[in-house]
Amino acid sequence: VGRSVQVSDSIAIELRDVVKRFGDVVAVDHVNLQIRDGEFFSLLGPSGCGKTSSLRMIAGFELPTAGSILIHGREMGITPPHLRPVNTVFQSYALFPHMTVAQNVAFGLEMRKTPKAEIAHRVREALELVRLTGLEERRPRQLSGGQQQRVALARALVNHPEVLLLDEPLGALDQKLRKEMQLELKSLQARVGITFVFVTHDQEEALTMSDRIAVMNKGKILQVGTPTEIYERPNCRFVADFIGETNFIDGVVIGRDGNYTVLETPEGLRFRGLASRPLSEGTAVTYSIRPEKVRLLAANGELPIDGLAGTVMSVNYIGSDTRITVRINERRTIDIWEQNTRSTLDRDEYWQPGEAAIIVCPPDNALVLS
Ligand code: ATP
Repeated sequence: VGRSVQVSDSIAIELRDVVKRFGDVVAVDHVNLQIRDGEFFSLLGPSGCGKTSSLRMIAGFELPTAGSILIHGREMGITPPHLRPVNTVFQSYALFPHMTVAQNVAFGLEMRKTPKAEIAHRVREALELVRLTGLEERRPRQLSGGQQQRVALARALVNHPEVLLLDEPLGALDQKLRKEMQLELKSLQARVGITFVFVTHDQEEALTMSDRIAVMNKGKILQVGTPTEIYERPNCRFVADFIGETNFIDGVVIGRDGNYTVLETPEGLRFRGLASRPLSEGTAVTYSIRPEKVRLLAANGELPIDGLAGTVMSVNYIGSDTRITVRINERRTIDIWEQNTRSTLDRDEYWQPGEAAIIVCPPDNALVLS
């Protein structure tokens, strides 16, 4: 599915050195961030990292302790939520149980004394967008969780906000529905073309949906990038660990080799990988390589460059791939995921526990994090 909207260069939302304190707790710690117009932008991080507080400050439900928030270049100051060009969708849909779907969606417009004909038109349009046409007269309890979520979305979209803020909106849905709604939300965003700021602690969800992601921890933004950048080039150990699976190996820098930084482990193993900046000899670093980037070869003859001899410990077939753990010495193992691109049944030989093997860690796929 091609995207019909363009992410433009103009900035929808800007956070300038924003701090939020609750008593002694620093929920948001000097955050600087620019979210572009038309972008599907996610704030991703573990519970308590400050994502919701950041979103609530953009919405105007909380005011920053320090710093400023700009929406389309306008400093928000103490502007109350209903006067900001944004709308928020919460995890708890907060629908009015005694009202029909149509009445729930129309509520905000009625409060603003919008003319009746316009309300009818906009409610119809919003319900069409979220594919709820035909369910106008139902009450919330007569709807599934996914449908209730869509009513909440329609209620936010009916005001034609410039920016939609979504706080874990899919959190209450079961796994299957959640996956469906992820794709639906993404395509909805592409159709309406407004900026979405999406809060989630689910890394897979953020990778699936976002144009760009900000990874947060302890009130700070650690990295901002596209899903590929965040996954392939995490800039620190936390991001590498939080997004996807990885093999970590601690060591110290012993020099450079062309584009690569070389490190050595305490027991004298050497690894080459990419560092995001020059690191001087002796710097303590963590080497990181994703399990699907490691190659496994039969142990015959000489060790290739970036190769290490090991012993296969376990082999777990999980359908799409096979997960193999190889021991390289008494204290270290490396995980390897081999994609099952052809039928495993056709392979008369596959890795067996106890077998000697060689692992190869391509340096272009390995990172040296400091
Ligand atoms: P979650 O995913 O669990 O909602 P989060 O990343 O959204 O987490 P926040 O809700 O922004 O994190 O909370 C950040 C920190 O600020 C936490 O330590 C939290 O306990 C604290 N905090 C948030 N709101 C308040 C409040 N109203 N009063 C006191 N402390 C708060």
